[in-house]
Amino acid sequence: MEEQTRSIVQQSLNALLGNESFLPELQGDMRKTAFTSLNAILSTPNQIHKSFLRVALEGGEVVRIPSYRVHHNDALGPYKGGIRFHETVNEEDVVNLAFLMTLKNALHNVPFGGSKGGISINPKEFSEKELQLICVNYVRYFNNVLGPDKDIPAPDVGSGEREMDWMMAEYKKINPGSQYLGSFTGKSIVNGGSLGRREATGKGVYFSFRYLLHDYVIANEKALATSTNIFAKTALDFMNRPLTVAVQGFGNVGSVTALEASQCKYIHNKVVAVSDRNVTLFNADGLDIPALIDFIAKNQGDLPTSVEQLTEISVHAEIQSREDILTMNVDVLFLAALENQLHDHNKTEVKARIIVEGANAPTTQEADDYLSNKGVIIIPDILANAGGVIVSYLEWLQGRETQFYTEEQVHNQLFDKMKHTLDGILPQYFGDPFPLRQNCYIHSVTRLSTVLYKQGQLY
Ligand code: NAD
Repeated sequence: MEEQTRSIVQQSLNALLGNESFLPELQGDMRKTAFTSLNAILSTPNQIHKSFLRVALEGGEVVRIPSYRVHHNDALGPYKGGIRFHETVNEEDVVNLAFLMTLKNALHNVPFGGSKGGISINPKEFSEKELQLICVNYVRYFNNVLGPDKDIPAPDVGSGEREMDWMMAEYKKINPGSQYLGSFTGKSIVNGGSLGRREATGKGVYFSFRYLLHDYVIANEKALATSTNIFAKTALDFMNRPLTVAVQGFGNVGSVTALEASQCKYIHNKVVAVSDRNVTLFNADGLDIPALIDFIAKNQGDLPTSVEQLTEISVHAEIQSREDILTMNVDVLFLAALENQLHDHNKTEVKARIIVEGANAPTTQEADDYLSNKGVIIIPDILANAGGVIVSYLEWLQGRETQFYTEEQVHNQLFDKMKHTLDGILPQYFGDPFPLRQNCYIHSVTRLSTVLYKQGQLY
């Protein structure tokens, strides 16, 4: 996964090296040296902090939990990135996720750098008291490198506002007098969280899809019709027609994305499949998304896994295996679970012509190359799932000013920011042969490189 991100950054730098209008003041050997140092800076994290959290469980056993905080780059502002609670968490993946945060913030012009954290546990195996202890220990272990002007964590897979509230409380306790409201984002509203933060990533994921496939395509229909670009052809094929939709992952991001899709008044979507870590649920006539959201709220986040559970909530669906969703015959596939879901072994089976990455890095390079060559539109993670960090930025601002916005103000600012980014990227995407991911990386790398050069950071 790390290799993939690095190689696209290298390709983006190669494209910029040959572009005379990019940093024209750098010429000859100076230009080559500057680009070599840019590559070194962007492909290496500034610091990797790791530790074993030693936690006494309720039964008396003491466990040692590998945990990480990676600072990738802070050229654009304080480090910012979520903390993942998952048994697969490892150093390499956290480094890559931090790298993606740097690129994401640069792409959307959010004044933060990139970081990421991880705690290698399955949170479902711990009691609430034990989880609180794990959160408290994480803050104690990494206190020196965290803070509202240094590095601001947020939730990620397996964590949410409960964990952020516990962590902020511990931060406040051990840093008296600090601007503690800005130390963590994704907190509960009563603890200084932002209205609209919980839904922000899912809403943003759906918005990126709707804006590209509906608003932008309709506004630029004539230009796209005369273009020879394969992605323009795919977009026009899907314009103004009902679409079948599948959503992999039904947590914070996936459930909100599915709800937005099912309630969209611009595109007629039918959400025919959703999945989670246990199952895929399928109904060709469309699933009752609000009923399923209600169910997960009462069942530790899991979808129904039996006919009895489905009958109890009057939801009609076939139960299939969790992988089935990836190769279903649908128009649009939203990926909102984990990384590496579309890969070399299933890429030829994927039927969706539009893929939207709510999750980080769910498509491997091989799968991306293969699908993009066939004209499949892939809206990449750093473009689609930035809603969380954009509203985290608004939460951080509100915490500093102790002035709070309405939910409508928050979502309007979110959509305005995403629209601005999409308007900056899409003309190039529909005009040149690069996949959207490469366009986004070029955009991010251009901004980061210019800032690093102007800050005198190049060797
Ligand atoms: P979450 O823990 O709320 O939900 C994850 C969902 O994925 C659950 O439904 C879970 O059952 C499912 N899942 C887990 N393992 C699976 C597997 N092997 N196969 C299929 N499904 C599986 O997490 P989330 O916050 O919704 O995050 C989902 C993705 O979105 C992650 O990649 C995360 O990094 C990314 N993301 C989240 C945010 C945010 O604000 N929460 C922001 C940006 C990106």
